[in-house]
Amino acid sequence: MGTCASQADPTKFHHLLNCFAGTDRLLCNLTQNIDCLEDKLPLLSSKTVQLHGRLDTLVCQRRSSHAFQVAPEDFQARIMSPCPDCETVDKERVQMGKRSHGVGVLQSKILLYGAGPESVIGDKLLDELFQKVDAVIIAGTRLQIKSPNRLAAELCRAAKWRNGLTVWVNKERPPREFESLLDYVALGDCDEFASLIAA
Ligand SMILES: [Zn+2]
Repeated sequence: MGTCASQADPTKFHHLLNCFAGTDRLLCNLTQNIDCLEDKLPLLSSKTVQLHGRLDTLVCQRRSSHAFQVAPEDFQARIMSPCPDCETVDKERVQMGKRSHGVGVLQSKILLYGAGPESVIGDKLLDELFQKVDAVIIAGTRLQIKSPNRLAAELCRAAKWRNGLTVWVNKERPPREFESLLDYVALGDCDEFASLIAA
């Protein structure tokens, strides 16, 4: 796979999480990013689980023979995007007057082959999370992928059960099923949120 040696620096939000990690306030940073920016912040890095691994291959949800190598920096833009091979095949079918078969979306291999977030995180850490979680911040994701969505909902429920805090930070609103699970919805950029908290 490609290297993770990103030229980018960690964001303000990463630095905020790193502060939390340094005071034991952060149990775990579950990230869907594969940019590996956490690597540059050792405290945060030690508490980070990369749900999508560091894979550089995306596979079509409909046809596993449709596989694509992607550079880490393109991963976020391409995951859940329409499969280019399906699009080509489908276009030809339609041009030949045949019925459209539809187009699959690209997913990471880890999620495609049934190893959902739980198996990436590991039973031990997952147990610890559910036993201790009293705050959940969901940031910079629309939670459109089913298994991280389900995990985030379960963690929110566990935090709420402890009278804990649940926060959504993103430019877009949370999925409808999260409306009753969230105490605060901050519509905006993660770094703006980090600046507010740090101030
Ligand atoms: Zn396809």
